[in-house]
Amino acid sequence: MRDLSQHLELLSLNTATVRKQAPLDRIIEAAVARGIRLIDPWRDQVQAIGLDKIARQLRDAGVRLSGYCRGGFYTALDAQGRAAALDDNRRAIDEAKALGSPCLVLVVGSLPGALSGKPQSINIALARSQVRDGIAASLDYARSVGMPLAIEPLHPMQAADRACVNTLEQALDLCGELDPGRTGVLGVALDAYHVWWDPKLATQIERAGAERLLAYHICDWLLPTRDLLNDRGMPGDGVIELRKLRGLVEATGFQGAVEIEIFSDAWWSRPMDEVLQVCISRFKSVA
Ligand code: ZN
Repeated sequence: MRDLSQHLELLSLNTATVRKQAPLDRIIEAAVARGIRLIDPWRDQVQAIGLDKIARQLRDAGVRLSGYCRGGFYTALDAQGRAAALDDNRRAIDEAKALGSPCLVLVVGSLPGALSGKPQSINIALARSQVRDGIAASLDYARSVGMPLAIEPLHPMQAADRACVNTLEQALDLCGELDPGRTGVLGVALDAYHVWWDPKLATQIERAGAERLLAYHICDWLLPTRDLLNDRGMPGDGVIELRKLRGLVEATGFQGAVEIEIFSDAWWSRPMDEVLQVCISRFKSVA
């Protein structure tokens, strides 16, 4: 296993971790000042500053991406809605390309309307088939421009509103169906927070192999968890066996970044510099 205490260059900052403290250009500056050279930004953060401006800043600062968040949300009640989702995913792929990302992370979506609290359908099987078709359509474009898509299975507590792909096994089944040749254009973003509880995790990580593991995200599962979305823990503050999990991931030959991604009202209320400092120290000691 890699010794992260000696390899800060393997730390990636998912910029949602400090999204409430500063705009993306200032987050990049603060990350660079702390020696962080990899980030995974969100589309809204990039758009708030401008794609060209961020691309230039990244080039000038020597900062690269470990991923780009996010595409997906394929489901809709009608064909027009699904076509709009495909257009949006095409734009996300183009942005990922412009920023030099190694992949576009997909949060695939689920019951149409559920994210805003008003589900227009409760047919999750239908949502899953729309997601399959959506990824298949995006994949044609992704392949043509050379931008791998990373399906992120989300914890089942988010199965209604954010993603109807909820286990690594399910994500890998999709990969196997849509990219049977393992061409490198379709894989998964494995997020410890979403998958740590899964009794099949070890066998599915082995099944994935390094070709399918396009990104590795970490944070921690707090007890008690007070909010389904924004109460993630700093690595080391919860119950996920992060070191063991990274061992399984790296046993596949995975050489990628370890990305810290924390949505947390508690951490969003602390100064950005303090959060980055704690991220670095937990990356070295706990991840
Ligand atoms: Zn994630």
